[in-house]
Amino acid sequence: MLDKLKRNYKKYKQDLSLREILIRRIMVVGIVISIISLLQIVFATSTIITAIPMLALLIVLLLGLYITFFYGKVETAAVLIGLVSSGIVFPVVFVLNDGIHSGAAIYFVLGMFYAIGMFHGKKMVFFISYNILCDYAVYIYAVKNPDKLLSLNSESEAYFDSFFAVILVGVLIGSITKYQIREFDKARLVAVQQKEEAIDISSSKTSFFANMSHEIRTPINTIVGLNEMILRDPTVSDDAKENATNIQNASHMLLSLVNDILDLSKIDSAMMDIMPVAYRTEQMFLDVISMMTYQFKIKNLDFMIDIDSKLPSGLFGDDNRIKQILVNLLTNAAKYTEKGTVTLTVRYDSVNNGFIKLVISVSDTGIGIKKANIKTLFDSFTRVESGETRSIEGTGLGLSICKQLADLMNGELTVDSIYGKGSTFTLTLEQKVIDSAPIQNINFKAKLGNKAEYGPLFKAPEAHILVVDDNEMNRSVIIKLLCETGVQFDEAMNGRQALNLTAEYKYDLILMDYLMPDMNGAETTREIRRQADGLCNNAPIIVVTADLSYISENNFDDFGFTDFIEKPFTGALLEEKVLKYLSSNVLEYIKPSESEEDLKIYNITNHKIKKKIAITADCLADIPKEFKEKYDIKLMYLFINTENGRYADIKEIDADSLSTYIVNKHIEARAVAASVEEYEEFFNERIHEADYVIHIGLASHIGDSYNNALEASKGFGHVTVIDSKQLSVGIGLLAIKAAELARSGVPADEIVENIINIRDDVHSAFIMPHCRIFYERGYTNKLVALLIDALRLHPVIKPVDSNIKIRGIYGGRLHPSRKKFINTMLKKYYNDSNSIVLVTQGGVSYRGQREIFEEINKIVDEDKIFIQKCSVTNACFSGFGTIGIAIISK
Ligand code: ADP
Repeated sequence: MLDKLKRNYKKYKQDLSLREILIRRIMVVGIVISIISLLQIVFATSTIITAIPMLALLIVLLLGLYITFFYGKVETAAVLIGLVSSGIVFPVVFVLNDGIHSGAAIYFVLGMFYAIGMFHGKKMVFFISYNILCDYAVYIYAVKNPDKLLSLNSESEAYFDSFFAVILVGVLIGSITKYQIREFDKARLVAVQQKEEAIDISSSKTSFFANMSHEIRTPINTIVGLNEMILRDPTVSDDAKENATNIQNASHMLLSLVNDILDLSKIDSAMMDIMPVAYRTEQMFLDVISMMTYQFKIKNLDFMIDIDSKLPSGLFGDDNRIKQILVNLLTNAAKYTEKGTVTLTVRYDSVNNGFIKLVISVSDTGIGIKKANIKTLFDSFTRVESGETRSIEGTGLGLSICKQLADLMNGELTVDSIYGKGSTFTLTLEQKVIDSAPIQNINFKAKLGNKAEYGPLFKAPEAHILVVDDNEMNRSVIIKLLCETGVQFDEAMNGRQALNLTAEYKYDLILMDYLMPDMNGAETTREIRRQADGLCNNAPIIVVTADLSYISENNFDDFGFTDFIEKPFTGALLEEKVLKYLSSNVLEYIKPSESEEDLKIYNITNHKIKKKIAITADCLADIPKEFKEKYDIKLMYLFINTENGRYADIKEIDADSLSTYIVNKHIEARAVAASVEEYEEFFNERIHEADYVIHIGLASHIGDSYNNALEASKGFGHVTVIDSKQLSVGIGLLAIKAAELARSGVPADEIVENIINIRDDVHSAFIMPHCRIFYERGYTNKLVALLIDALRLHPVIKPVDSNIKIRGIYGGRLHPSRKKFINTMLKKYYNDSNSIVLVTQGGVSYRGQREIFEEINKIVDEDKIFIQKCSVTNACFSGFGTIGIAIISK
């Protein structure tokens, strides 16, 4: 038992909440106080009977302590003590101690303090009420029965009792409060310390990653550079070449991993800066495309480039970060696509004050992403673990970084994907226009040429280049990569040596390392520039560095550098940079542009204009043809299952042919929702026609249409499905309203909000000739249907809470009933002279339709009334002969 007590005491110290500790402390202190009180009663008062409640309290407290320590039931103990002390002990003490003429009343304060301090929520409310009730009862009892109170022996005894109670209660409340303040201060101190430690760890982590990235990039540069020499060598065996290719791939993987980790730690510690500069749009895309062509080529994928030829040619923004995002998205597209096409599409919208909204999307025909994985796709270290992706290398960092970079640029990165079919990632950001001249149609393929076989980009045996680097291996990599160009080299292993050489020789170009002991690259360059009688004061100096953060692209010329090369670099890049700065009189030969045949790059010059927002609905939205055509509202069909087969509504069957079927051949027909996959297909087609799709779905409790559409939309970042809470003409009115808003340029999120706000103001109802079909579809109960049909009544159905219910009945002949129904609806809801009135009918005679029109025309202008034939699906729901009407009341 002692062991158990010890163990429990340890646990008590370790993982209890402050409240639990307090309850335990109160029990211990309470036990001490009860013992003192008992002693006080025994020795200081003559009425020994007053000891009974104190004894009861002592027993309850001991019991509480026991079940807490041995069974961990703190809550039960707390409740027990609360109930017994406030309900029994304190009232009895009050009665036995002469009511308010002693210190007994002060214990009630303790009861209330305990109720408020120890409980919360409903329990607290209960205990406060319980205390008020018990206190009130005992006070009333005392007022009404003063003679029943046990009086104390003397005035001095009463004073002493009061004094004793004040001290006890005061000490108890004071010590609990003090304890709480002390614990709070302790916790606050720990939190402050932990925060400081976390900041320290985070900043040392960032600088660790920054250093590590530099340290790793330099050896990777050596590996990549020397490995390239093996790949270039025509005498090397195929086996060795294969090994070298693997080394190349692994080095790139390692490099991108280092870059990702560094970026992530920079973003985490808010040290990632966005550096906007003026850039040429064409060059930015050319850089991205040229970085990607090799990856598409080796996977034999088609690469389509569809860049709006009217795009402004000069923009202002962080082109390096945009390139980083695009290269990441295109690399993923190449990684996760086995065959087919990757398409880079660029569109833009003009926004105010000389800004454009750039919309760049990367689509692929790859493996796609399951809807369940879309939610976490942009989280760090999240990879989709499935059979297809397990074999593809990756860390799950790329998309998270892209998303955060897009956020930092106040942009947006979204995804639309269908599992098994492909994905589209879309980057949207605002950029300032610097040069509004259109970029025109660019032939990227011609600009890129074919870089399959190595051959030096130029030959310049007369050129002299100085390579300054403290690391011999680095100097050797540069010299080897440029050896085919025939250039002559001098080497300097530090700034001093470089200055000696520049004083003596005139170099055509200097390649300068940045991080060197003694004098770094910037200091050496500054000295070369101002060297008295120096021969290289104006020579081009290219800084070669593994960490561009020292010298960002914006200010490298402040240091006197002419340009920069980031490590690790390829031989091609090095040659390109060197060629750029060699004067033509030392150049003996420049490689001509090569054949384009191998590159599967296709420029799309006939840019398809996408709509901004497409409004769609389910086919049972009865929308008049003129609106459907005017706003190009596309409808998703439902299926009509008949004994003779299954038909897609609208596409394969119309209401009249079905009516002949059912009436003449007595064939049963039921409407069934399109599947999730069919909705995916539908949304996929729409998303190729518009940037955003708003689907006005059928009321969510009618069939599966809404839920299937909603499920399908989860794979698309640009599709919103709205529960219209309506059917037929009700959906039609909402779809027309949404299309009007879209046409007038209202953004998608505002349209969605607007439609959700007005859907309750759309009033639609349908009068059916009889109830049979409605009952057969399971929408009402048999008895009601039998009764309605036996009495030849015509039920009125309405959408209620996203479902459909009978909400009225007309008796008598059908035609007059329809007229009465129309009249009631118009009188009740038609108050806006601008609103249109939609009517749908299934199998109503021409004369019948004319009469309905005339009835409505008494109140509504002719050009605002639209009567149309319902979809087959609607006819299946309610039967032929039904008419419906929809009006917006606001
Ligand atoms: P990584 O590709 O290194 O795993 P990313 O953050 O770039 O990390 O991507 C996270 C996950 O998203 C990938 O593991 C992959 O499952 C999925 N993914 C990204 N792009 C595509 C794509 N174009 N097609 C299919 N899945 C993709």
